[in-house]
Amino acid sequence: RSKSKGKDTFSFFSKDLQHAMHHRVEMEVKLRNAIENDSLAIYLQPKYNFDDSAVLSAESLVRMFDENGKVIGPDEFIPLAEETGLIHQLGKQVLQKSCEFVARCNELGQDFKVAVNVAAKQLSNPGFAKEVAEIINEAGIAASSIELEVTESALMHDFEQTRDILNDLASLGVTIALDDFGTGYSSLSYLRQFPLNVLKIDRSFVIDMDKEQQAHDIVTAIVHLALSLELTIVAEGIETQSHFAALKALGCHLGQGYFMCRPMAMADFFTKFIDDCQVA
Ligand code: C2E
Ligand code: MG
Ligand code: MG
Ligand code: MG
Repeated sequence: RSKSKGKDTFSFFSKDLQHAMHHRVEMEVKLRNAIENDSLAIYLQPKYNFDDSAVLSAESLVRMFDENGKVIGPDEFIPLAEETGLIHQLGKQVLQKSCEFVARCNELGQDFKVAVNVAAKQLSNPGFAKEVAEIINEAGIAASSIELEVTESALMHDFEQTRDILNDLASLGVTIALDDFGTGYSSLSYLRQFPLNVLKIDRSFVIDMDKEQQAHDIVTAIVHLALSLELTIVAEGIETQSHFAALKALGCHLGQGYFMCRPMAMADFFTKFIDDCQVA
């Protein structure tokens, strides 16, 4: 920056920075309160079976509400939750609510599976697997009704410890999904060194697959890889009929996306997908 402009530029950035810091502090207060008041909400997005469009599982996605009832998405507070350590309590509440949802389904005689996102930081807690076991037992549900979604970067963090924790989780009976596959930097050999059951194709590939041959080729390669490793393949971010048709043709097992259904508040989801007392 030139000398003449220097002062203005500095004050501009300084105001920006002040604003950002203020926003961050505010968000942290909101998050702490939401955790303390147990007011975080779970939205559920159904996973559709490509074969018959059955919905037997869903992904749990956390939401926070501001003082005006406006919804705040997880991208705005999950990174902050990780930095401040609030993620442990947040993750526990999300898992508890997800398990309670499964228990309610079971009460109606329905088997239902919920996938819960787990942040990298949560896997650095050596007591994580034990905590998961306790929450599942408390809800009185089968461990196989819970799937944990981890990202490639979470696996990269501390190989040995992460593998031990995931092995403990797998022996409980929960299934493990690798989320956002293709966006991280993990080596493919990792796919065999962790007890993975599911591979989720990141939506950035899905979005472009009907416009760019390259994206289509990448998805094809991922599907072949996953099939040969006998993993269940979930495609996320399906926004159009043509995405849906292409992924079905490739042999993906399950799909999620706005084309079929947006994430819904838990109570609405329950009414729509579980307790559908339709008159014949
Ligand atoms: P994710 O686990 O990859 O979840 C998929 C995200 O894509 C969700 O955003 C979902 O609403 C969105 N999505 C679903 N279908 C479509 C579609 O067709 N088009 C588009 N454009 N988006 C679609 P959301 O709910 O905002 O969550 C964002 C991320 O926040 C999640 O990505 C996950 O990494 C994280 N997250 C959400 N809930 C939790 C949680 O309880 N714990 C942790 N640790 N992370 C969470
Ligand atoms: Mg996920
Ligand atoms: Mg994802
Ligand atoms: Mg994502």
